[in-house]
Amino acid sequence: ARSGRASRAVQRCRIVAAAEVEQSYIMIKPDGVQRGLVGEIISRFEKKGFLLKGLKLFQCSKDLAQEHYKDLKDKPFFPTLIDYITSGPVVCMIQIFVILSCKAWEGVGVVASARKLIGATNPLQAEPGTIRGDLAVQTGRNVVHGSDSPDNGKREIALWFKEGELCEWESVQTPWLIE
Ligand code: ADP
Repeated sequence: ARSGRASRAVQRCRIVAAAEVEQSYIMIKPDGVQRGLVGEIISRFEKKGFLLKGLKLFQCSKDLAQEHYKDLKDKPFFPTLIDYITSGPVVCMIQIFVILSCKAWEGVGVVASARKLIGATNPLQAEPGTIRGDLAVQTGRNVVHGSDSPDNGKREIALWFKEGELCEWESVQTPWLIE
């Protein structure tokens, strides 16, 4: 019975995956790379049960950084934000949350879940237990980025990844993450 349930769960995931899977663009910012936090930050998403679909170390151009943060272009901190993001390599990731994708019908998805793991923009307001709450001090050095909406997830993934860089795969964890 258990393996029947597990295979039904996997099947359900496949159906949802084929239909519409929410994806989040997560990025370890240059301070996270410089401070040796790459393994720690990736580990938080792995332990939660996200499925990694793309991963690379990358030095981004000013043009790409400006396009990524275009909604903030009128903010006074925009020039320093662009300098910060281009100051060294970043680690780009695409994360899918298989469990929550299966419950996508309930409107809970990887984007909101990743934002909870990451914590508030200002690390002083981020709860302990979140990445920013545990590992960062200042808004201008908040170590990690996560898409703020499913549409921005799509937009950012298209901006930072080329087609051949994504991997389609299934994790053996799936039946152990979903009842
Ligand atoms: P989030 O990254 O939590 O989605 P925003 O989209 O509001 O937050 O801002 C994008 C990034 O811009 C932040 O993560 C941070 O690096 C930077 N930023 C936001 N507000 C400030 C600020 N007041 N001063 C300096 N940098 C800021």
